[in-house]
Amino acid sequence: MTREYDIIILGGGMVGAAMALALEDTSLKIAVIDAGALEPLLSAEDECAFDSRVSALTEASRTLLDNLGAWKHLRRKFPYQAMHVWDAAGTGSISFNASELGVPNLGHIVENSAVRHGLLSCLTESSVHLLGGIDVQELKQEKGAVSLKLRDGTFLQSRLLIAADGAGSRARYWAGIPMREWDYLHHAVVTTVELEKPHNDTAWQIFLDTGPLAFLPLPTSSDGRHFCSIVWSLVPDEAQRVMELPEEEFLKYLGGSMENRFGRILGADKRYCHPLRQRHARQYHRGQVVLIGDAAHTIHPLAGQGANLGFLDVASLAEEIHRAVARQEDFAAPHILDRYQRTREGHNLAMAGIMEGLQRLFHSDHMLFRWLRNSGLNLTDRMPFLKQEIVSRAMGLRGELPELAKKR
Ligand SMILES: Cc1cc2nc3c(=O)[nH]c(=O)nc-3n(C[C@H](O)[C@H](O)[C@H](O)COP(=O)(O)OP(=O)(O)OC[C@H]3O[C@@H](n4cnc5c(N)ncnc54)[C@H](O)[C@@H]3O)c2cc1C
Repeated sequence: MTREYDIIILGGGMVGAAMALALEDTSLKIAVIDAGALEPLLSAEDECAFDSRVSALTEASRTLLDNLGAWKHLRRKFPYQAMHVWDAAGTGSISFNASELGVPNLGHIVENSAVRHGLLSCLTESSVHLLGGIDVQELKQEKGAVSLKLRDGTFLQSRLLIAADGAGSRARYWAGIPMREWDYLHHAVVTTVELEKPHNDTAWQIFLDTGPLAFLPLPTSSDGRHFCSIVWSLVPDEAQRVMELPEEEFLKYLGGSMENRFGRILGADKRYCHPLRQRHARQYHRGQVVLIGDAAHTIHPLAGQGANLGFLDVASLAEEIHRAVARQEDFAAPHILDRYQRTREGHNLAMAGIMEGLQRLFHSDHMLFRWLRNSGLNLTDRMPFLKQEIVSRAMGLRGELPELAKKR
């Protein structure tokens, strides 16, 4: 049996779900497939339990989610007011403050599961077909169509397959799209911690000899308990050691590494470890398969930009498909997909380059690099104009934005 669609989106993570919602108002027949469930969360919210995976979303991403109608469904979102970054091995530091820079906040910390919940809440009310728990065995391209063979023997067919199946994308592999890959030689240890003292609505990042350690602020509970999500990038051996430390030693070591800025660390959730690699697809499309989000690129999380880049991919590709549909053109034609690639590739590559530069600059022990980063941080901290520029870029508000990421 073969089911036919105009577009199949493989992967219903944050990026794939946003893509589906961005196309929902076209006349196209769309399906989202995921190996896991595609339902909004139903459990009651425990105000002291957080998803270990959070994202710092830019204003551009928030606007996109708002334009899609999903932002209001996010169960929790935390606008942060300030950011403080400093070098543990020197005197360099820089601070950004929303009120000083004339913006309401510097961005929002959101749990990935909350974003997905918001998007799926909208999708369940839409005409998009949500096919959860599906195991795809094979992808073939023939005669201008993509055919997916599922484990139960059925086939799905579409004119275009949008691959949003994450960093290890099978669709990318099946389509034969090669990657440029580079190991950051870092693993990220992530978890949620409870602090003795408040985080002051500030995102904190210290550059240690072993790599950056970030504390991202989460909502304070109604009985005054303070929480942060941590992303601790470490060389692999050290990450392994940190993962295996007994709870008490982990809390002490983490607190000491953060220079005990929040008093004692009172507790931590389960720790997870993610190997970090930079990846970038050499082509964003081949035949009838087009890549978005982590399937197309992954970068170091030190500036929290990965999902933000994925959302801009969504906005650009949706714009191209909408325009083609309005003109009654073939939305999967190579020149349409080329235009999407041209719009996004430069921006994604530039961000990857910046992450690589920062990672090298802060990882080096060389005297010259130490001097450079410390004096660079201090100098920039004294230049309000430059800080404004950095914040505007970090909030995704510089450059030509696709319509979907612009305020309406
Ligand atoms: C430690 C860490 C911290 C980060 N912090 C930030 C941050 O602060 N800000 C930010 O913007 N980004 C951040 N990122 C990056 C961000 O998490 C990713 O860019 C984002 O989650 C990518 O979303 P995605 O939907 O493209 O992929 P994924 O989230 O990987 O989703 C892929 C989906 O596809 C499904 N799937 C996969 N294979 C198949 C298959 N064969 N068949 C069916 N379904 C399949 C999966 O089940 C999943 O639902 C961070 C990343 C890391 C590792």
